Amino acid sequence: MKRGAFIKKTLFILTVFCSISFISAQHEPQCGTVATAESEKYFQDLLPQIRQYEQDYYQKTLQRSSTAISSVPIKAHIIRTDSGTGGLSETQLNNAIASMNTYYANAFIEFFLCDGINYIDSTTYFDYSTDEQDALTNVNNVDNVINIYFANTVSTTDGGGLCGYAFFPGGPEVILMNNSCALNGSTLPHEMGHFFALSHTHGNTNGTLTSELVDGSNCSTDGDFICDTPADPQLGGGNVSSSCIYSGSAIDANGAAFTPNPLNIMSYSRKVCRTEFSPQQYARIYGVYQASRAVMACPSFNVDIASSYTRDCSNTLDVNFTDNSIGATFWQWDVDGDDIIDYTTQNPSHTYSGEGAYDVTLTIFNGSSSLTKVFQEYIEIGGEDISTSEIILTLNTDDWPAETSWEFKDSSGTILYSSPVYVEGIDDFQTFTENFTVATNECYSFEIIDSFGDGICCASGFGSFNLTTIEGSTILSGGDYGFGNIVYLANDVLSVEDYFANNSISIYPNPTKNTLNIQLSNSNNLPDTYTIYNMLGQVIMSKRIHQAQDLSIQTNAFSEGVYYLKISKGNHSNTLPFIKN
Ligand SMILES: [Zn+2]
Repeated sequence: MKRGAFIKKTLFILTVFCSISFISAQHEPQCGTVATAESEKYFQDLLPQIRQYEQDYYQKTLQRSSTAISSVPIKAHIIRTDSGTGGLSETQLNNAIASMNTYYANAFIEFFLCDGINYIDSTTYFDYSTDEQDALTNVNNVDNVINIYFANTVSTTDGGGLCGYAFFPGGPEVILMNNSCALNGSTLPHEMGHFFALSHTHGNTNGTLTSELVDGSNCSTDGDFICDTPADPQLGGGNVSSSCIYSGSAIDANGAAFTPNPLNIMSYSRKVCRTEFSPQQYARIYGVYQASRAVMACPSFNVDIASSYTRDCSNTLDVNFTDNSIGATFWQWDVDGDDIIDYTTQNPSHTYSGEGAYDVTLTIFNGSSSLTKVFQEYIEIGGEDISTSEIILTLNTDDWPAETSWEFKDSSGTILYSSPVYVEGIDDFQTFTENFTVATNECYSFEIIDSFGDGICCASGFGSFNLTTIEGSTILSGGDYGFGNIVYLANDVLSVEDYFANNSISIYPNPTKNTLNIQLSNSNNLPDTYTIYNMLGQVIMSKRIHQAQDLSIQTNAFSEGVYYLKISKGNHSNTLPFIKN
């Protein structure tokens, strides 16, 4: 699957309110979550891309490479009284962000203050009510950064006290924080978790028992949609002891007793207990950042790059990079994702050799300040991936067909198929269909040419062409291409990649004690092998999968901790984290 630019939609607003639970440990936290049909769709639309980035995240973790941390801009709005008193101090703000950054470093991101602090001296907003949001944020928000408003108190319209609230991707880039909660160490990372699409571990609905099963078998579709956080019947002061032990007795639909994690930051556990994100929660934060939040930019200081190159079938590629950053006086480029600085010039050129997708990282400096951004798999070497047995060209000529020609070549440059001579006055406004048979593990080029240089569309004429696989996936199309257009296509045995796209794989229970099960949506088509790595990337065990019984892994001998299970089929793999308790 190709990752397209994620198109932001603003259809829905999903607000998560998180209550102040320290007032009374006896009271259940008051939390209002509004999940709509649009919010579900939004998340589902984003999920395939997120899952790809999660895979990249696990690979980064295992390979210990390309681990640079991207800088994400925060605009801090500190609300004080009319006379300018009260409000969070700058030191408190910096400490709160630094504390949050210790967590988010594990997701390869860190937050920085963009353009200092905006002080809002208003006694009205000092004790903020949620119905004041538009009036407050419309005049203060900075576009394309995370706007965090720090108020003395935050209340719902009916007077309920809140610790803070945030919006999922798709909503406004706004977080509201109660000052004391901002300093408790867990609410700010919790709200930021929502900003990166993390749900509460008990799911998106408060006060209703989660449908996520204790055995983890529906963990990817129910509860918080995260598989290494145990099902949570909704924690709170009433069922978590002051020593952070769960004491509830709720059972799931199978009659199994819940064993939730009172330490998880995305739970409603006691604030002081919340000190952990799970590995997959970190992977999701990373995935959501790459899929929908990486475009955020501080107006005065920002990293951005462009590049120009012609991608072809070869394993080498010359790329010219252009720095489009704002506010930079010094540059450090890692152009191949190995955490080694390759260039310190502003606009370097680099020759790549070796197939693959490369992360490009640029760090910019200005005085003592620096910013870093990782552009995930920014450079891809070799042809674009396709997987098919046949390619189909559909050509609708314009009224100058003699200007049009095309060639289909293999990687050695041999012309396999080429256009007939289209004849003026006969072939005008006709539709031609051509079929190209292709072999696997070969790279092809398709080039369409207009000898006059005005394409077949738009300036004059309404011609077009469409190059697709026989399965119907569009490879290249258009008509407004000037003198021509060329595309390089690597036809791999991607039926294996389709295997992971079409055969959803999950593991349960997670966390696990004695046995970890690999669950396949199509159990008739087994993967080849699995390998288990520890947090250091060392191989703990590896096994060839011969039969369905091989999908149950004995983990009782493992020491407690986080592991990664890499499941392989052909040259492709899927990696999932699990926790051994
Ligand atoms: Zn929350």
